[in-house]
Amino acid sequence: MSAEIIDGKAFAAKLRRDVADQVARLKADHQLKPGLAVVLVGDDPASQVYVRSKGKMTVEVGMNSFEHRLDPSIKETELLALIEGLNADPKVHGILVQLPLPDHLDEDLVINAIDPAKDVDGFHILNVGLLGTGQKAMVPCTPLGCLMMLRNHHGSLSGMNAVVIGRSNIVGKPMAQLLLGDSCTVTIAHSRTRDLPDVVRRADIVVAAVGRAEMVPGDWIKPGATVIDVGINRVDAPEKGEGKTRLVGDCHFESCAAVAGAITPVPGGVGPMTIACLLANTLTACCRANGLPEPADLTA
Ligand code: NAD
Repeated sequence: MSAEIIDGKAFAAKLRRDVADQVARLKADHQLKPGLAVVLVGDDPASQVYVRSKGKMTVEVGMNSFEHRLDPSIKETELLALIEGLNADPKVHGILVQLPLPDHLDEDLVINAIDPAKDVDGFHILNVGLLGTGQKAMVPCTPLGCLMMLRNHHGSLSGMNAVVIGRSNIVGKPMAQLLLGDSCTVTIAHSRTRDLPDVVRRADIVVAAVGRAEMVPGDWIKPGATVIDVGINRVDAPEKGEGKTRLVGDCHFESCAAVAGAITPVPGGVGPMTIACLLANTLTACCRANGLPEPADLTA
């Protein structure tokens, strides 16, 4: 194996420490305590795990955590009324509605009901537009975490060829916008892309956000390229015992690591950065809401 492992777990721990320091300073200097409200509709087990760990880490960095667990049959009007209340609450600086929502709720309507200044997920249509036009936006957490790791590894990304595999609103598209903002030459590949291996082979930076276990093999990777693996896929692991599973990325780790210059592992790569960036966005939202300078080293 030749690739340097980009340790997202350590990077995220450092980012959380930096956020905690800034939160302590906000309290000491301005008597302010950032607050994050997380709204969970229904009882999806994976969402419950995410919400629990978001709440725990929010408190660990010294912020207020407000959790709203709602019945899956909640009416859209009730959910919108809750969001309106959070928008108006001065103790709440960030609002996150855990996706996916049950089918009877219109996700776009709900997300666009969040005050864009409190939209710490960066999914509100206004933040999407601000990011796309290079203006100051709330940036979606997962791509923001990827960008931070890339900048940390490379310094400048200017002029590099970047291929993003996946075109979701949550990862692929904002990732491409961020890379373009850093002057990469960006290609977005997706399920209809022709000759995907050849497209990927041209990339100095590969960001895989597909949701297909180990679909990118090492022979698609240009020697020395940087591979950011966003995918989280659970696969059977009979070697660990009957019925056991393990997590793998969208890239085949061993073969990609043999060719790449650097690679994020799964788990321990992009995943931990997502929550750390959520906390950083909440801190940023609190600073902006109070007319204070943003913590420059935390924002992309
Ligand atoms: P999505 O299902 O919304 O989008 C997947 C994209 O992959 C689509 O744009 C589709 O066109 C593309 N695609 C599908 N099959 C393809 C193929 N054969 N070749 C090329 N492209 C193909 O998924 P998403 O929400 O963007 O998430 C992608 C992955 O990232 C998932 O595994 C998800 O669990 C993971 N994820 C991880 C984090 C994290 O914090 N690490 C956050 C969000 C998503």
